[in-house]
Amino acid sequence: MKNLLKTFRVFYAFVTRKRLWFVFFIFITVLTNALSASLPYFYKLFADAIEIGDLDFLLNLLILMVVIMFFALIAHMMSFYSGDVLMFDASVNARKKIFKHLQDLDFAFHTQKSTGSLISAIKRGDGAMWSLFHSTHHRFLDVIVRFSVMTFVLSSLDIRIMLVTTTSFIVTLFATRYLVDINIKARKRHNDEEDNISSIIVDNLVGFETVKLFARERFELLRLDRAFAPWLKYGWKYVNTFRLIDGSVGSIINISIFIILYYTLHMTHTFQMGVGEFVLVLGFVNSVYPSLWELIYGFRDVGKSYADVEKYFSLLDHTIEVKDPNNAVFLDNIKGEIRYEKLSFSYKQGKKDALNHVNLYIRQGQSIALVGKSGSGKTTLVKLLMRFYDPTKGNITIDGVDIKSMTKSHLRSFIGVVPQEPVLFNNTLAYNIGYGKTNVTKKEIVAAAKMANLHEFIEQLPKGYHTNVGERGIKLSGGQKQRVAIARMMLSDPDIIIFDEATSQLDSENEKKIQDAFWKVSKDKTTIIIAHRLSTALKADRIVVMDEGKIVENGSHKELLSKKDGIYAKLWKLQTLN
Ligand code: ADP
Ligand code: MG
Repeated sequence: MKNLLKTFRVFYAFVTRKRLWFVFFIFITVLTNALSASLPYFYKLFADAIEIGDLDFLLNLLILMVVIMFFALIAHMMSFYSGDVLMFDASVNARKKIFKHLQDLDFAFHTQKSTGSLISAIKRGDGAMWSLFHSTHHRFLDVIVRFSVMTFVLSSLDIRIMLVTTTSFIVTLFATRYLVDINIKARKRHNDEEDNISSIIVDNLVGFETVKLFARERFELLRLDRAFAPWLKYGWKYVNTFRLIDGSVGSIINISIFIILYYTLHMTHTFQMGVGEFVLVLGFVNSVYPSLWELIYGFRDVGKSYADVEKYFSLLDHTIEVKDPNNAVFLDNIKGEIRYEKLSFSYKQGKKDALNHVNLYIRQGQSIALVGKSGSGKTTLVKLLMRFYDPTKGNITIDGVDIKSMTKSHLRSFIGVVPQEPVLFNNTLAYNIGYGKTNVTKKEIVAAAKMANLHEFIEQLPKGYHTNVGERGIKLSGGQKQRVAIARMMLSDPDIIIFDEATSQLDSENEKKIQDAFWKVSKDKTTIIIAHRLSTALKADRIVVMDEGKIVENGSHKELLSKKDGIYAKLWKLQTLN
């Protein structure tokens, strides 16, 4: 119930952004329904006039009726038009708001999300907003107004008929409420299975290369097939709840109509009611009672859309854990002095003590090479500097300012990163190189590409800088991707540079190109290199050796080599032997 209220509160916040339009919409919707609901009253007037035999009056009556019908039609059209005005606005804003929220969510969220399920939740949620809107306002409002008009008119005739209509309405409401509850639950369960299926499909589309490499097509097909078993099971449960709703509420309607007509026929037969009055009851019962079906179908739709809308809006409930401070500090000129102080960090659902009591000071303009076994915490050290996560203990300062007191976007704006496996956009080389800079010029892009030893390669391509790199940059080799990433980083002109060296064995020419490019770019800037090849580490001012989340050695190449049992000395031996 709390959830229901919350979801509708969010929903109406989006739908009522245009206040005046919303007021107009409600007014015009009630008006059109009241007008069309009152039409059966004319049947009685017709029947009465026929008995008297007044033809002129009959014709005037008919004209009046048609005029009212046209008014109702125009009001109907305006009701839908204004509804669309509200919904277009709501739909765009909801999607923008949710997109923004997803964008702001932490690294931790993005490592756990499933893109496939997210996409299907967003798509379904948007569609469901429209049908929730129409069900609530066009169907429910419609039924309520029609029933009110009927009840009002019939109560003047016989209070007992009014009792039947009111009772049947209330019973229907109760029954539907209970039935729709079952329906929503079944729908939710079915949706989970549906999301599971799309996540399998998207996973396959994204990881197609691995599937092919291991010839796992059959396995994947089977996986999909197995996922369809619960999908079908809960799918059937869901659709069967409709049969239940239809059967129950249909019976209520049929019984009510029977009681009312039985009673009215009896009254007419005993001359307690005239023919005109019988026609009046018949007209109302005939035109208004079927709208009870709208109530059921409305609830049914609300049930369906509600689950989708709830899930859609619940994307806004994911909390942002790495928060921006209230009074953020902005640094004008960054020197690039970095200090890690007694820093410890554990991943929530993973490695405990990924970093354990790390102290590290990097002077302005100094270059530091981080070396150590895979999993020793090198990347984590860098992620914490970028505030992808906040440390469990200790802190990091840049130029003496705690990075927690800056906004994340400010902090990241002066740090440039070349990731280990750069992810490019499915767009042109020029787009990807220029990505980090607003209003970037062609000249700047070419200059950056030259600096990154990429220009020659690009020039050879038939489409040059307009070559598309494919999804995630799949059409480029690992070394080319890293050079694009270097050029991209360079253009954003960062004060601190981080380079996560590719582990893949690049051929030595490629490796040299990347390294040359990198050292050119990072000259005189504070630099952290995660070095997998010690030949890279060699060029750094200082080498920091990590093991099990701790800094175990720290010094120049020479100093570290002189430690006979040191980890670095051992690594050096290993790598230089072959
Ligand atoms: P390195 O870069 O030195 O290879 P990382 O810093 O990536 O090491 O990882 C340090 C440890 O933290 C590893 O044991 C790794 O499995 C773990 N780890 C890294 N990222 C995550 C994550 N997102 N969730 C849980 N554990 C993680
Ligand atoms: Mg790493």
